[in-house]
Amino acid sequence: MPELPDIEAYALALDRVIGGHTLLWLQLNHPFLLRSVEVPPEAALQSRIVAVQRYGKRIALEFSNNLFYVFHLMIAGRFKWKPESGTGKVAAPGAPPGRSSSKSGVLARLGFESGVLTLTEAGSKRRASLHVVTGAEQAAALSRGGIELLDSGTTLADFNAALQSENHTLKRSLTDPRLFSGIGNSYSDEILFAAQLSPFSMSQSISETEASRLFSAAVDVLREWMDRLLAEAGTKFPTKVTAFRDEMHVHGKHNQPCDVCGTPVQRIRYAENECNYCPTCQTGGKIYADRALSRLLKNDWPRTVEELERLDRPPRT
Ligand SMILES: [Zn+2]
Repeated sequence: MPELPDIEAYALALDRVIGGHTLLWLQLNHPFLLRSVEVPPEAALQSRIVAVQRYGKRIALEFSNNLFYVFHLMIAGRFKWKPESGTGKVAAPGAPPGRSSSKSGVLARLGFESGVLTLTEAGSKRRASLHVVTGAEQAAALSRGGIELLDSGTTLADFNAALQSENHTLKRSLTDPRLFSGIGNSYSDEILFAAQLSPFSMSQSISETEASRLFSAAVDVLREWMDRLLAEAGTKFPTKVTAFRDEMHVHGKHNQPCDVCGTPVQRIRYAENECNYCPTCQTGGKIYADRALSRLLKNDWPRTVEELERLDRPPRT
């Protein structure tokens, strides 16, 4: 699932290619994509893009008529960009290309005078979503209210308040969009590794020192990855948006030696989540078996990614 650094990189690249440009045509190929009913998406036609922003794990295109297209890519949704060829053919007003079959994985196409933006989703599950809303307030409400760790005003006290508002495993707390904004499976693994904390420690049981270490690690890891991905997106449209990257330390590194101590990285899979950790650096040498963890996780974790991301869960109290 694209997380904060990936979404920020998309936002930068999208702003570069469609910022200031007018939406000329729109093709929605899949009825399940659009999850809002109040405003028809066609109401944005002939309006200009004035901003592209991240709200949590969502990405919003803001139009000059105050409409927002807010996308959630879920796990397999991706944007593709094809610049206008110069012939005027690609984005000719009122002349979108032939409709793709919904099986092709193309969920939507947006035609601008600068080129065509395509939303694709790999696999057979249709989970990516689009909400069309009016005004920044409604768009921001879709972010679920988790705190923004990279905002300069976010303090350790804010972090602790969010972390300890509910008692969950650290892995689950970090990825809950009601508590923290923009963190999913990959960066939570990397953050917990950097903090040298067990993913299975409970958020209300860790010490002040550990919480402070977790806060610093979260800020550092997100900033490091955001800087890296923004540098790439500043020059070319992101084409390799993946949860698995060579420079990561534990995520996707199952059975490979830990960069710090050489111990093979362990992995626990539960429902749709996975957790990668170094037993020496993070859990005092303890290796958790899937079975031993299942009771802990069963009570702590929603069964699907949708459940964790869904909008009708009550906000943090
Ligand atoms: Zn290690």
